[in-house]
Amino acid sequence: MQIKSTTRIAMSVGIIGLSLLWISQGLGILPDSKTYRLDRRVELTESIALTASVMLESKDNEKLQEALDRIVERNSDIVTAGFRRTNGTLDVWTRGHDQLSNDFEEYEATNDAMKVAMLVKGKRYGDLEVIFVTQSAFSRFLHDPNTKLIFFFGAAFILSAWVYLGRILKFLNPSKVVPNRVRSALDALSEGLFLLDAQNKIVMANRSICSVLDREPEDLQGMDPGEFSWKKGGRHLEDKELPWNRCRETNEVQKGQILSLQHLGQESRQFQVNANPILNPQKQCQGVLISFDDVTQLESKKEEMTKMLKVLRHSRDEIQRTNKTLLKLASSDPLTGCLNRRAFFEQFNKIWNSDSEKEICAIMIDLDHFKSINDNYGHATGDQVLREASERIRQMIKGKGLFCRYGGEEFSLVFSNIPVEAATKIAEKIRIQIESSPMDNVNVTASIGVASRSKGALDPQHLIDQADQCLYLAKRRGRNQVIRFDLCDREELQMAEAEDQSRKQEADEGPRTIHSHVVGGLLTALAYRDKDTALHSCRVANLCVAIGRDRMSKEDLYELEIAALMHDIGKIGVPDSILLKPARLTTDEIRIMKLHDKIGVNIVRAACASERVAEIIEQHHLDFYELRIQNGGDLPGLAARILPVCDSFDAMVSDRVYRKGMALDVVFEELRRVSSTQLDPEIVESLIHYVRNNSNWAYKPALAGNLSTKAMVQLGGMVERFAGACQAKDLGQLKQVASDLRQTADDENATFMADAASRLETALSQTNADAEKLYDMASEVIDMCRSARDFLVDDSQAISRIVEVANQDPRNRHPK
Ligand code: GH3
Ligand code: MG
Ligand code: MG
Repeated sequence: MQIKSTTRIAMSVGIIGLSLLWISQGLGILPDSKTYRLDRRVELTESIALTASVMLESKDNEKLQEALDRIVERNSDIVTAGFRRTNGTLDVWTRGHDQLSNDFEEYEATNDAMKVAMLVKGKRYGDLEVIFVTQSAFSRFLHDPNTKLIFFFGAAFILSAWVYLGRILKFLNPSKVVPNRVRSALDALSEGLFLLDAQNKIVMANRSICSVLDREPEDLQGMDPGEFSWKKGGRHLEDKELPWNRCRETNEVQKGQILSLQHLGQESRQFQVNANPILNPQKQCQGVLISFDDVTQLESKKEEMTKMLKVLRHSRDEIQRTNKTLLKLASSDPLTGCLNRRAFFEQFNKIWNSDSEKEICAIMIDLDHFKSINDNYGHATGDQVLREASERIRQMIKGKGLFCRYGGEEFSLVFSNIPVEAATKIAEKIRIQIESSPMDNVNVTASIGVASRSKGALDPQHLIDQADQCLYLAKRRGRNQVIRFDLCDREELQMAEAEDQSRKQEADEGPRTIHSHVVGGLLTALAYRDKDTALHSCRVANLCVAIGRDRMSKEDLYELEIAALMHDIGKIGVPDSILLKPARLTTDEIRIMKLHDKIGVNIVRAACASERVAEIIEQHHLDFYELRIQNGGDLPGLAARILPVCDSFDAMVSDRVYRKGMALDVVFEELRRVSSTQLDPEIVESLIHYVRNNSNWAYKPALAGNLSTKAMVQLGGMVERFAGACQAKDLGQLKQVASDLRQTADDENATFMADAASRLETALSQTNADAEKLYDMASEVIDMCRSARDFLVDDSQAISRIVEVANQDPRNRHPK
């Protein structure tokens, strides 16, 4: 509650007056009320004694009794009174005195009892005893006349000061300098106003600011507005920073400052403050008029807007960033950061259509034998090689042209406005750069084709196809080289393309079934009779797979593999005396031995029910040129060209009973010498390259070493099931075999194999999985199954158990 200042002053004056009276009482200026009371009691007692002595003389005790009763009744200070004779008996007394007078001396000690000696007719009669009211200290204070006096004067002071000040202040009120009309007008304003005098004190405050501050105008008068808690931007302002003080200092108007005011637990409010100096004719500041415009809502809206703008700006930047990333993701290859095919052709088409006269060159780059990099060093290394190769190419082209990852390990480049010679130079530099140093410890080479628009390409895809043809030719000619379209023999180019086409066509053909358990059984039988030949067959089969893997469909490769495993199966029909003779054979023995070809073909025809496998085996003793003649001058099938090369190679490097195996370089020389007449020169080169780059070419890692015979037999059987599923593009079948493999591997605690199978299963469960990648993963798993088979053949003790196990397990008798 606010106390009006008039009241406050009046009360102060009253309290000052009271204090003065109390001080004067202390100083003895006011009469002592204790003495006064005692005097009064003495006077009263004496006057009773005087009145009574007359009645005692006349011995009118009745009258005396009546008079005494009346006196006691009328006098509030007297409790009882009585006359006691000198012999101690009471003569006349008021009610109760006989009792109370027993303690007379105690009352007398506190001046609450008095006695006066009485004489009757000159003789001592006795005493008048009077007992007075005994008062508590408080009651004494209350009944003290001085107290009354002080309270009276105190109240009178306050009242008269209040009335007087009220009247006087009316004349002294500084706000009265503002005429009433003007004041009412200012009160009507919604803006708050302070009028300050020369001492910076508030002379006038209008209604509006008073209601903000919850004060009466008179209460604000005389205050300094700086006494309130003004802040700017959350910080308390120093006096000199307040706009009215600045205004006073500079004599200049201060406009539009936003200050916030926190007042008496209210919410902080924002004001737009203007301060105008009031100048006298000498331009001296006599006061300041301050206006306060409440902009709390406006400011909070503004703050909200600023915050919202900030959020919007942030999300706009975020969206722009995301869009950029998305655009980049949508147009680039995640592994290498090159353009992807879609973005590449989009830009290529634009360049192509922008000017029909413009020379445009396309370069196709394919890493050589990349599959074997994956096979030998793992896919992570393969990925790293891809990254580094792309980085080297990128540095070579220095941001010019279009650079795209065209396929797995194929890159394409497009340059406009450069002649084909310059493009070929770039291609050659790229080839050298890739070859120059190992990538992730792997030696890498690339085959490159270059084509230019001026040589007749009809559209971008056509130009790319021409460069691609050159690429195939580069592969055929032994890889790691650059071939330029316009400098090539068209026939050779077409041949390379046809080869590519047939590869693709073959890949599209349906599945053909060869039962692996039959092959396994035959191989076992061969191993049982002639283990060296069975092992040779396994090695040849593995070499054939390595050389043919990237040129043939999976089904063709599988047929080649079976043919390689079975190519010497006819030896089963050769008598032991010749088959196992530890010396050179005689001419007759050779003749009998050669019969094995025919026996073998017949066995395969009958047992495997595969004309193609039988054909490959039948052809494998023919020379290359004979085969070509048979084929009407055209290249024979890949299987027929690969098997003889691998067979000859393994025969030459292996030990025989009559001679040691030959050194690799000698074997290479011999293979090259007979190439083009007896063997396909291209396959010879591929084999040499493969053997040189794969130190473990002769042995598959003994992945299956710890497996039980039963498991190895089962795994051997899975080779065919995998190959069949891949060829049929039957992902369901593929998943089933992967699951069987995982189970078998789990049962055997072969974690590596179970993991590989499980990875394949998981990949197969993903709806958006790349089919090509899935088949590549399956190849990896097939290799593991193959190694189980090889191990089985190598393990002579196991051989005797194989047929038994195979017969026990219905899965092997009737593979799914
Ligand atoms: P060639 O010399 O005839 O080109 O032989 P190659 O083995 O390089 O050719 P091919 O095109 O048959 O094999 C390419 C392999 O590249 C097949 C696939 O497993 C592998 N590959 C494709 N994409 C990737 C990838 O992103 N990472 C890895 N590590 N390998 C990949
Ligand atoms: Mg390649
Ligand atoms: Mg390729």
